[in-house]
Amino acid sequence: MKLAVCINHVPDTAAKINISADGKNIDKTGVNFVFNPYDEYAVEECLRLKEKNGGEVIAVSLGSDANKETLRKALAMGVDKAVLLKDDSPRDSFSVARALADYLKEISPDVIFFGKQSVDSDSAVVGVMVAEMLGLPSVSVAVKLEISNGSAVVEREIEGGKEKIRTSLPAVFTAQKGLNEPRYPSLKGIMAAKSKPIEEKIPAAVQPKVDVIALRKPASKSAGKIVGTDIGAVPELVRLLHEEAKVV
Ligand SMILES: Cc1cc2nc3c(=O)[nH]c(=O)nc-3n(C[C@H](O)[C@H](O)[C@H](O)COP(=O)(O)OP(=O)(O)OC[C@H]3O[C@@H](n4cnc5c(N)ncnc54)[C@H](O)[C@@H]3O)c2cc1C
Repeated sequence: MKLAVCINHVPDTAAKINISADGKNIDKTGVNFVFNPYDEYAVEECLRLKEKNGGEVIAVSLGSDANKETLRKALAMGVDKAVLLKDDSPRDSFSVARALADYLKEISPDVIFFGKQSVDSDSAVVGVMVAEMLGLPSVSVAVKLEISNGSAVVEREIEGGKEKIRTSLPAVFTAQKGLNEPRYPSLKGIMAAKSKPIEEKIPAAVQPKVDVIALRKPASKSAGKIVGTDIGAVPELVRLLHEEAKVV
């Protein structure tokens, strides 16, 4: 079974983000980039499927040389091959999906996994766009997956419950938290990953469908107000919560 997993390299959600001088991008100076958290579930699921059914796991990331750090972590977790689609230019979700779909078409995997979303631009569309581009069925937000006899039964989260879906393979899946517990790379895996090659390919340039016009940080919160320090302050606190904050 050939399994492919697409991994994004994203700013750490704990990082303090500043906006670049053009007002359209983030200033990457000093920002720590990490393995997109949902993609760790996707990698883990592919590794488990390989352990059960045999085959190989290919990790793919589109971006700059910096993405190699995340690909090395995937190699340390146990993927067999890592591929960098090297492109430093800013891409929207469509042009990311186009480049990934072009590569995936070349290798034609049985199972293609994505995270449910990237924690940088949070669009949650690349996986389903790739499925559409490849003409494959897709099941998003998977929390359980079983594969047998060329088909997959998937549980996905829906409002207030779970939905169970069957699909034929090849197919595209996006991983939700809860699908599994991603493994930590072993020391042996980390050491071995250092010397494993990362294949580089240059994706075709694609005209983006959308442009970022402006990025804005949320308005800074006003300073808190101390109404009083004893029980006598309660009526005033209730009045402020009712009349100013309008929360009670
Ligand atoms: C302000 C800003 C500026 C940016 N500037 C740049 C830039 O200069 N250069 C640049 O490369 N990116 C840049 N990005 C990141 C890039 O735009 C997004 O990561 C990309 O569009 C995917 O985000 P999405 O929300 O569409 O992904 P989603 O649809 O939320 O992602 C879903 C899944 O698709 C897969 N996926 C998404 N992106 C990739 C990828 N690149 N490689 C492999 N798998 C992927 C992952 O499995 C992910 O879990 C920027 C993002 C922001 C917010």
